[in-house]
Amino acid sequence: MAKRAVTMDKLVALCKNRGIIFPGSEIYGGMGNTWDYGPVGVEIKNNIKRAWWKRFVQESENSYGVDAAILMNSRVWEASGHTTSFNDPKMDCKECKSRHRADTLIEAHSKGKVNPDTMTNEEMEAYINEHHVCCPICGKFNWTGIRTFNLMFETSRGVTDENQSKIYLRPETAQGEFVNFLNVQRSTRAKVPFGIAQIGKAFRNEITPGNFIFRTIEFEQMEHQWFCKEGTDLDYYAEYKQRAWQFLVDLGFDEAHLRFHDHDKLAHYARAACDIQYEYPMGWSELNGIHNRTDYDLSRHQEYSGKSLTYVDPVSGERYIPYVIEYSIGADRLMLAVLSEAYDEETLENGETRVVLHLHPALAAYKAAVLPLQKNLAPQAKEILATLKKILPVTYDEAGSIGKRYRRQDEIGTPFCITVDFDTLQDGTVTVRERDSMQQIRLPAAELSAYLLEKTAF
Ligand code: ATP
Repeated sequence: MAKRAVTMDKLVALCKNRGIIFPGSEIYGGMGNTWDYGPVGVEIKNNIKRAWWKRFVQESENSYGVDAAILMNSRVWEASGHTTSFNDPKMDCKECKSRHRADTLIEAHSKGKVNPDTMTNEEMEAYINEHHVCCPICGKFNWTGIRTFNLMFETSRGVTDENQSKIYLRPETAQGEFVNFLNVQRSTRAKVPFGIAQIGKAFRNEITPGNFIFRTIEFEQMEHQWFCKEGTDLDYYAEYKQRAWQFLVDLGFDEAHLRFHDHDKLAHYARAACDIQYEYPMGWSELNGIHNRTDYDLSRHQEYSGKSLTYVDPVSGERYIPYVIEYSIGADRLMLAVLSEAYDEETLENGETRVVLHLHPALAAYKAAVLPLQKNLAPQAKEILATLKKILPVTYDEAGSIGKRYRRQDEIGTPFCITVDFDTLQDGTVTVRERDSMQQIRLPAAELSAYLLEKTAF
């Protein structure tokens, strides 16, 4: 297999230079592992979210969207189990004071051969001592014991200091779908099986954030919960594994860079769980999860809220709490995978190297760039730009040679460049250059919007 050109350093540099992703709070020296999306990045990320929503809500049978509040009643997190068990096993290096996840240390030390998911904290501690696993920062062996660390960010609500109550920034969007199960079902008159989807921010006080936007403390999730009857759950679980995979393939992922990873250790309530892993520049890691969560979530919310979340089948009159198949993917993590997959360096006929993002056209920030061959053709080019802008996101560039302008568009993945030249004045046609093949065709300017709409659809 051909070696991939992408490395994390190259990707981070390209993202900064081309307005895709900047370090957060940069002028203040940054704030560890926070990132800001720039003018190009926000468009790509929005397109990722749009493609996901189109596939899992718009085109899906019986799926509905919600946009729930980030701040929820604290009882939600008691019911979901997050206040007691959303913990990571943390160890501190007594020498250099750095903090680590015990499971990550074991995974790295054993080169993925030992699966810490199946170990208790005591077993992990024993492994680390027995194998003399040293601190990856300072190389010394002087650990504290393992302590569990809750990943939820706490804040407080109240207008006076004396009258504050503890609340949390949500660590996942899923609970917003569970608590609205009956609201959605009744307002849409949906019959089980049906789905509820949401895209929104989640926050986790991660012990070891890093690898660019792979693991951050603030991120966006795209989650879809499929409510179904017990007995049909295993089939739907298999179906969602397939749908999650197909979505990635349709976005242009090479299947050789994807693999399923079935979980050995299941949460006590789960019936099955797996991830799809992607081969990032730093190696294989989780991209998304698919879980068969049984009737745990709705049962717990029924118990803690005291409100019935039982579904009544309108035909048979049968009453039951549905099972849930959860499909969850981070928008930022998918963005990292999309950029890693798209990045390429190609040697051109003249010996120069071009950096190109082979993004699916639907994900590209701009569907086309309008380029006047010379500056005195700007009025005609801007007229074409104004017409296209009403229909599609397009950009404009008149600075530098045409070759340089092509390169700039290649680097942000713009699928088409439209050159306005002197023939345009005569016959109203333009040159359309395609990003990947670099092939050029001539088209009447009047046909551009229909052409671009067709070529850039998802
Ligand atoms: P990991 O094991 O990588 O921490 P997880 O198993 O805790 O992930 P889930 O709780 O299942 O992840 O979250 C669902 C999805 O949300 C993940 O597959 C990932 O795409 C995304 N995600 C989770 N945590 C983060 C994070 N800290 N930063 C960015 N994306 C995240």
